[in-house]
Amino acid sequence: MSVAKDTKAILIGMWTTWKRIFRRPVTIQYPEQKRIPSPRFRARIVLTRDPDGGERCVACYLCSAACPVDCISMQSAEQEDGRRYASWFRINFSRCIYCGICAEACPTMAIQMTPDYEICNRDIMNLVYEKEDLLIDGCGKSPDYNFYHHAGIGVSQSRGAGLEEKTPVDVRSLLP
Ligand code: SF4
Ligand code: SF4
Repeated sequence: MSVAKDTKAILIGMWTTWKRIFRRPVTIQYPEQKRIPSPRFRARIVLTRDPDGGERCVACYLCSAACPVDCISMQSAEQEDGRRYASWFRINFSRCIYCGICAEACPTMAIQMTPDYEICNRDIMNLVYEKEDLLIDGCGKSPDYNFYHHAGIGVSQSRGAGLEEKTPVDVRSLLP
């Protein structure tokens, strides 16, 4: 009985092998051949800029708070016009699990995932990326978005003058 079962299992295995033996192999000879991942593939993280070239990150710490492995850290600072920025910004890619939660949490679309998966390194310290390693010159996936044109915080325009923004209510006019 067991001999019959074993023979059947061997024949099924051989049949599976023969079925696939003349098909094209799915193996890719990496790194000579590279697979192009989908645009939404989550790998190396970048910090992007506004269409006018300003840094998008306002150092709100949301990405850092949302990160499940605590691999984002930064220090907030403020320009003379009130615009916030990160004086330093660090991501430890040796801990990052590429979940994309930081990018989901970011209100300014500053932090974005890219499909660049080639960041392996033998020295673990080389996987600690500073702001100068993360900040790119472009806008990334949202080329037209400018947080300051939507948020009425009086930096690039007065309160209430932003896109889709209502004029602030005069709270004194609400007094009984
Ligand atoms: S992708 Fe996930 S693990 Fe990596 S920095 Fe963002 S939130 Fe943290
Ligand atoms: S990258 Fe986005 S979420 Fe993170 S601190 Fe900057 S603005 Fe906030």
